[in-house]
Amino acid sequence: MATIPANDLRRQFELHQPEYEKKALEVLRSGWYILGNEVQQFEAEFAAYTGARHCVGLASGLDALILAFRLLNIGPGDEVIVCANAYIACVMGITVNGGTPVFVEPDGYDNLDAERIEAAITPRTKAILAVHLFGQSCDMERIGQIARAHGLYVVEDCAQSHGSTFQGRQTGTFGDIGCFSFYPTKNLGGFGDGGCLMTDDDQLAARCRTLRNYGSSRKYHFDEVGMNSRLDEMQAGLLRVKLSHLDQLNEERCRIAGCYLQGIRSAYVTLPQVRPGAVSTWHQFVIHTPWRDALKAFLLENGVGSEIHYPIPPHLSQAYRHLGYHEGDFPITEQSAREVLSLPMFNGITQQEIDRVIDTVNRFHP
Ligand SMILES: *Cc1c(COP(=O)(O)O)cnc(C)c1O
Repeated sequence: MATIPANDLRRQFELHQPEYEKKALEVLRSGWYILGNEVQQFEAEFAAYTGARHCVGLASGLDALILAFRLLNIGPGDEVIVCANAYIACVMGITVNGGTPVFVEPDGYDNLDAERIEAAITPRTKAILAVHLFGQSCDMERIGQIARAHGLYVVEDCAQSHGSTFQGRQTGTFGDIGCFSFYPTKNLGGFGDGGCLMTDDDQLAARCRTLRNYGSSRKYHFDEVGMNSRLDEMQAGLLRVKLSHLDQLNEERCRIAGCYLQGIRSAYVTLPQVRPGAVSTWHQFVIHTPWRDALKAFLLENGVGSEIHYPIPPHLSQAYRHLGYHEGDFPITEQSAREVLSLPMFNGITQQEIDRVIDTVNRFHP
């Protein structure tokens, strides 16, 4: 029996292969590969999809975060509140600008615990980074209230939440800036690197367009020192194809999650829950179990792949040892890092495979 992978990107390609191949040829034959019609069309279409005023295509999700904090003038001496169990890139977006991450423990939905934010606010706090981890929105109502009460910016990391909503509104449209990644494994994944930034603010959007292109607003005129962070025409074209199917692809993920939620009956596993008001797009299906390593090994022995998102929280990462954190500083996050396991979740998984995942988890005994 072939092993069921944790993810298989060939399957999502094959779901709409002729459309991707047609678009790829179209871009190749156009003779125009950077900042052209495809990027412009994609930006307009994705902005319209989310309801944001502006979408600016960028080279990656990390660049979107780096540019977001730069656009908000967050730098040395400024603090940004972020969930301690976030992905490391979230923290890098803050620290590359010289800002300081202030970690807050997650809630029961693996997201920033809004009730712990106020205790982390200091006179230096400038922003809250709301990371919608695993496809599920943070409590944007509470986070918005706190931000308004304390005069803080809100940046959303939507790298895992394309199409996810909270109280009927798309993630990426609640805060001052929404950051997206189009890394191939994301719900709206391209076939290479890519990202974008969403905002309703005309000036922030205009400055972002300049910054992504060496700080140039007019050819060979440079307003400030910028970056090369452009979404390319090939990715934008392929992302337009995928965006046209995004709702259907997210529905498929919801159906897979529904099968897992209904079928998994195990005393050893805690299933993920959906926050009231949130519609998750199930970027990952993450279970918690104190017997995580044993379950992962058992699944593999039985031909079921799985992943750990993430084994080392940023505050304990080698990259951030200079921040001086220690084991025990964020016990909920650290316990999560020992207990989380992501089951196979990808477009194109078969019902037979879903059933085998469920059956194998249910047969596990520590
Ligand atoms: C993938 C991801 C990023 C980084 O995106 P890249 O395009 O790989 O740079 C940032 N934040 C989160 C939550 C992610 O999952």
